[in-house]
Amino acid sequence: MIRQFELVERVKSYDPGADEDALNRAYVFAMKAHGAQKRASGDPYFSHPLEVAGILTLYRLDAASIITALLHDVIEDTPATQEEIRGHFGDEVARLVDGVTKLTRIELQSDLSKQAENFRKLLLAMSDDIRVLLIKLADRLHNMRTLHFIKNPDKRRRIAAETMEIYAPLAERIGMQALKDELEDLAFAELNPDARNSILNRLEFLRTHGGEVVPKICAELQKTLEEAGLSATAVSGREKAPFSIWRKMQRQNIGFEQLSDIIAFRTIVDSIADCYRALGVVHSRYPMVPGRFKDYISTPKPNGYRSIHTGVIGPFKQRIEIQIRTRDMHEVAENGVAAHWVYKQGEITHHEGRQYRWLRELLEILEHASNPEEFLEHTKLDLFQDQVFCFTPKGDLIALPRGATPVDFAYAVHSAVGDRCVGAKINGRIMPLRSQLQNGDQVEILTSKAQTPSPTWERFVVTGRARAKIRRFVRLKEREQYVQLGRSILQRAFRDHGYEYTDKAVEGVLKTFKSASAEDLCVEVGKGTHTGREVLVVVYPGVRDQDKESDKVVPIVRARAKQETGKGGIPIKGLIPGMAMHLAGCCHPLPGDRIVGIVTTGRGVTIHTIDCDTLENYVDTPERWLDVSWDLDSAPEEVHTGRIIVTVANEPGSLAAVSNLIAKNDGNISNLKITNRSTDFFDILIDIDVKTVKHLTNIIAALRASPAIGQVERARN
Ligand code: MN
Repeated sequence: MIRQFELVERVKSYDPGADEDALNRAYVFAMKAHGAQKRASGDPYFSHPLEVAGILTLYRLDAASIITALLHDVIEDTPATQEEIRGHFGDEVARLVDGVTKLTRIELQSDLSKQAENFRKLLLAMSDDIRVLLIKLADRLHNMRTLHFIKNPDKRRRIAAETMEIYAPLAERIGMQALKDELEDLAFAELNPDARNSILNRLEFLRTHGGEVVPKICAELQKTLEEAGLSATAVSGREKAPFSIWRKMQRQNIGFEQLSDIIAFRTIVDSIADCYRALGVVHSRYPMVPGRFKDYISTPKPNGYRSIHTGVIGPFKQRIEIQIRTRDMHEVAENGVAAHWVYKQGEITHHEGRQYRWLRELLEILEHASNPEEFLEHTKLDLFQDQVFCFTPKGDLIALPRGATPVDFAYAVHSAVGDRCVGAKINGRIMPLRSQLQNGDQVEILTSKAQTPSPTWERFVVTGRARAKIRRFVRLKEREQYVQLGRSILQRAFRDHGYEYTDKAVEGVLKTFKSASAEDLCVEVGKGTHTGREVLVVVYPGVRDQDKESDKVVPIVRARAKQETGKGGIPIKGLIPGMAMHLAGCCHPLPGDRIVGIVTTGRGVTIHTIDCDTLENYVDTPERWLDVSWDLDSAPEEVHTGRIIVTVANEPGSLAAVSNLIAKNDGNISNLKITNRSTDFFDILIDIDVKTVKHLTNIIAALRASPAIGQVERARN
């Protein structure tokens, strides 16, 4: 276990300005908080955060990260709170500890390895500061190093599998090769100890039988390069990790016999130009093995790794792999992003692929940051900011675009769930279906068999899948409406001439109208493609000559039954049962106004006042007119919008006079817009909540009586 002063000394050695006092306080705080808690190993629990902090000093992380490492388990495992930490250590540390705690909770909540790829993304998305991720990786590394103390074999395997599938790839993703190798090796030892042991034995065998061959090859290569004038070279042989050998054996279904399968010879040179010169020297001296050459300098790996790899038949007629790189590239290869702010000087790659924009941005920040402090101000990661990751109650992870709602989530789970969703619980609380989901939310969709998709959902869903399903449903519903409407139009047209409409009656004329079925024809009539009369005269050509007069008369259906229809239960007499009804936005009809219904394509019936200018558009389609009237007797006291135009003098107090008068007469202004303004007068469009047309007429009369007001009219269109 590292001692308190050792830890502080280590941090001070690379960051002389580190807050020594805060480090000491964090040490004491964590030690007291964890108290007598014990690890599976029997060690005091505090040894764990201390070791994690120790690992991070090797990466030379700043004091805030080290303090966070010391405190990283106190919120989850002790009574300490976020507020306490903020109070003692400030906002930055509080935010970092909170970040690590969130990752820990995700870890506890679910079986991470179920959907490894999504979980990796989730962890990245939740690590909005790269330090959070580095602390989490160090935490995992120490837990892996002490994994063998855990007694439950299932738990050991689960942790090892998670490490293999989630954390090692994350370490690789940010280019921390050495950390990745160690995580993989520890997990490999747990998951497949036999395979690992046989590879270790084989390596041992090759090592002893190869004798001094590796150092000899190193020396030979070094000599060759020096003779070519490449002075500052260092050649070393490095054994590949057992797990990467194993993976290669699995992938290629082969055993390993060749030195090139287990040892990589590495050459460090001064500059990029020297890398290519060294490559030329190697290739002109030793025969190249075709298919083994890779130039990761001109095309770096997504995680920023750069190096030249080539395979040759080496000095002792052995196939060997040689990696050529600069010192800076070497640091990045071993320690990834963490290396960068230690070894800032030197060129930094400009070639990362577009899909790894985040990494490039990170590296650019690293490149431009003149000191570690500045770097740390820019550690905010922008990973997967276009996605959110949410859980089902069973712990499955659903990835959605940012801004997604419970309806999107429901459709992502299953179309049937989407179609029937009536509500959602987010983290156990009932929330509106339009709520935006956040990373890590647990979402439970409430369904009802009676529910159908609502067209209003389309306004807030963001996934194509949800939108397509809702549209499909709405179109189907629309078609049903058209069929119903078209059929009733045809029934009327037929009845007016003494015939009875049946679907069968039109079957003989479907071709004329290019319709596949009677239902299709009804849709076309409902949409207004054909009028009822057009169909009628084709079915009964004799009708054409009958009763020319009747063409000019508006055919009116007098439905006498009272019907409660439409939104808000406005009682209007004369509607077709089941048809949607709404009040026209142009003339704002009020109870008491003389009104007429117009059957509008796809929207059911629109109610206009009888003097509305819009009605002119329907003069030629009389079958769309419905004779309707208000059923004032059964009208509940309802509020409607009355719209007026007022012209008032442009002087102080006149607007106040208008609003006072409206208020005095029990009217409530719901909307107001100045439409026209001149030096002496201005026009105002006012929406007033009123009960009936009489109510509005009273208000208009009161306004007209005021001297400050020039003109008052109901607004038409
Ligand atoms: Mn921990």
